[in-house]
Amino acid sequence: MKRVYNFSAGPAVLPVEVLEEAAAEMLDYQGTGMSVMEMSHRSKAFEGIITEAEQDLRDLLNIPDNYKVLFLQGGASQQFAEIPMNLMKNKTADYIVTGQWAKKAAQEAAKYGRVNKIASSEDKTFSYIPDCSDLPIDEDADYVYICENNTIYGTKFKELPNTKGKTLVADVSSCFLSEPVDVTKYGVIYGGVQKNIGPAGTVIVIIREDLITEDVLPGTPTMLQYKTHADAKSLYNTPPAYGIYICGKVFKWLKNMGGLEVMKARNEKKAALLYGFLDESRLFKGTAAKKDRSLMNVPFVTGSEELDAKFVKESKEAGFENLKGHRSVGGMRASIYNAMPYEGVEALVTFMKKFEKENL
Ligand code: PLP
Repeated sequence: MKRVYNFSAGPAVLPVEVLEEAAAEMLDYQGTGMSVMEMSHRSKAFEGIITEAEQDLRDLLNIPDNYKVLFLQGGASQQFAEIPMNLMKNKTADYIVTGQWAKKAAQEAAKYGRVNKIASSEDKTFSYIPDCSDLPIDEDADYVYICENNTIYGTKFKELPNTKGKTLVADVSSCFLSEPVDVTKYGVIYGGVQKNIGPAGTVIVIIREDLITEDVLPGTPTMLQYKTHADAKSLYNTPPAYGIYICGKVFKWLKNMGGLEVMKARNEKKAALLYGFLDESRLFKGTAAKKDRSLMNVPFVTGSEELDAKFVKESKEAGFENLKGHRSVGGMRASIYNAMPYEGVEALVTFMKKFEKENL
């Protein structure tokens, strides 16, 4: 069997232990004689899986009782519409645009109401997080929206914006469970799970109860109403059952590792190794503003498109997968999510040093 070091931004590396456990249970989940994929979502066995997954997530993030946890489908992108459809009571929302994903979310929301772009870092190719301490928040804004970790550009909000009392909605797809967060600071935290948690398609929405109402925009489909799924405990229709099962296993893995404080320390150690090298390298250069650097996604360039292409090709041959940068920015990007071991980053840095020697 071959396992590569997979630096993909998503779908991304999962813990080997989780994959091994799932493989062992593939044909017979705990004596049921069937795979979780073949199981009724109304069965006792699946009820156990989803209930335990929710509880483990609650434990990990310390989610207060007045927040619901929803396991939904449609990936993170479906939330770009679902959020305004459910929350835009005044038909107004403020968006902080720090990358393509926030931009897409803002464009989608603009179909449903007035969208104010209250801050942006597009002037410098989204390479930094703008100052969000005193923003022109609209009095009528139903919420303030951020993409907390910008997967493509490798930036992260180190401090949440001052929303002046307005509800904060955050896309945490690419930093989900990478460090502790204070859930009470948000109205909605959501993310596609395919980076730090599980199979693509499943999306987790953590939402404060008072935001779940029947008062949604006219024409909002039943499937896109948070209330539908909150009332049915994420079992209104057939949920992404196998995805939820893997998420549950990753939650257990995280708990066994010691929880999110431990993950944060591990992630900081990995990121420090890579950023440390980038800062001293004479060939490679990190592209994100230092103060805003993500622990999860590390974009870098050589300054020469030819050398970038050579690096991507040679790194692949050496067993490092998916180091090519996003198609919109080029260069390279190493995504070092929770499941990437320190040794993977060490091996990458060793390879980069060798490449630098050979190509300077
Ligand atoms: N938001 C962020 C921050 C992402 O990185 C991505 C995908 O990479 C998305 C949203 C879109 O996710 P999905 O493909 O699940 O719709």
